[in-house]
Amino acid sequence: MELGSALIQAVSFFQNYENCHKFMVELRWPDGEVVCPRCGSGHVKYLEKARVWKCYAKHESPKFSLKTGTIFEESPLGLDKWLPAVWMIVNDKNGISSWELHRALGVTQKTAWFMLHRIRLAMQDEKGGKLSGHVEVDESMIGGKSRNMHRSKRAEKIRGSLRLRPALGL
Ligand SMILES: [Zn+2]
Repeated sequence: MELGSALIQAVSFFQNYENCHKFMVELRWPDGEVVCPRCGSGHVKYLEKARVWKCYAKHESPKFSLKTGTIFEESPLGLDKWLPAVWMIVNDKNGISSWELHRALGVTQKTAWFMLHRIRLAMQDEKGGKLSGHVEVDESMIGGKSRNMHRSKRAEKIRGSLRLRPALGL
């Protein structure tokens, strides 16, 4: 059994942290302004080294990451593992097996199974019990070409990617 090239591409794309970062920011804060997921304030500062933002509003846990408030929040696995899995579930008509994911990500098959289960559960919650088996998302998001696209075209692509939000539990 061979690993699909789409999976290999997704894995290699998300191995680059910058790509994970851009992808998550566009998904979570599509208008470009990062706001605190706890209080909604836009008065935040990105701490590059720690890869977290600090919210200046007065509340507990003022720091938040790309994972905060998503289904990945409590997981020790990085976005480089989670995002290819999300991508494949949302895009692959034929579905992805835990075996394929285990092979592609280098996690155990048990972990791969758990990841798929978790993502599908999040999507199920959103759709009221129905699995959203196939959502069209343009592959060019992964190609990283969206920045060079015509503005309206790009907005369209990003709206497409917003359909990924349920898979993240957002
Ligand atoms: Zn806040």
